Amino acid sequence: IENKSIKFNGEYIDLKEFSQHIFESTRIKYPDLELQTRVRVKDEIYADPVLLTSVFQNLIDNAYKYSSPSKRFLEINVEQTKKNFVILFNDRGIGIDKKEFNSIFKKFYRVKNQFNQQGSIGLGLAFCKEITEFMGGEIKVESELNVGTSFTLVFPTEVKNG
Ligand code: ATP
Ligand code: MG
Repeated sequence: IENKSIKFNGEYIDLKEFSQHIFESTRIKYPDLELQTRVRVKDEIYADPVLLTSVFQNLIDNAYKYSSPSKRFLEINVEQTKKNFVILFNDRGIGIDKKEFNSIFKKFYRVKNQFNQQGSIGLGLAFCKEITEFMGGEIKVESELNVGTSFTLVFPTEVKNG
């Protein structure tokens, strides 16, 4: 995705309501996923709801896809600090080796593992990174093999240029 070509339709979004919609659809899409959620925000975020939904969706799909069927768990915390909105996605999946941390955000990059047979193309995280950075935020990964992975989105609460 070229940043120039992203069509950004920004609006003020109540993250509580927004998240609840995503949690509901996730529970329907993945009935066998144990979803634990918490939302604590006081301000609205300025974002494109369609793009932000896709970012959530990609991270949720990954958490589900890269977990063994007996350990499908995902914690999503949506919080607000003094300067940022902080959104955490924490799974108990197969984990990612530290040496892959940079590569996974590249287009078409996929880690070789037994979970990777079904038709994915390796664009999800590249998309998440581009969109997040486009919105002035950042995406971070922490992981331990065979323990789990967390992705964190950090967005500034202050909107640049109004
Ligand atoms: P696509 O998202 O295009 O369907 P994909 O899931 O393979 O394909 P990405 O979402 O970009 O691509 O992820 C890149 C790679 O990072 C994946 O192939 C997978 O190996 C690894 N990965 C991503 N999320 C997780 C996760 N939550 N736990 C373990 N590995 C992950
Ligand atoms: Mg993916």
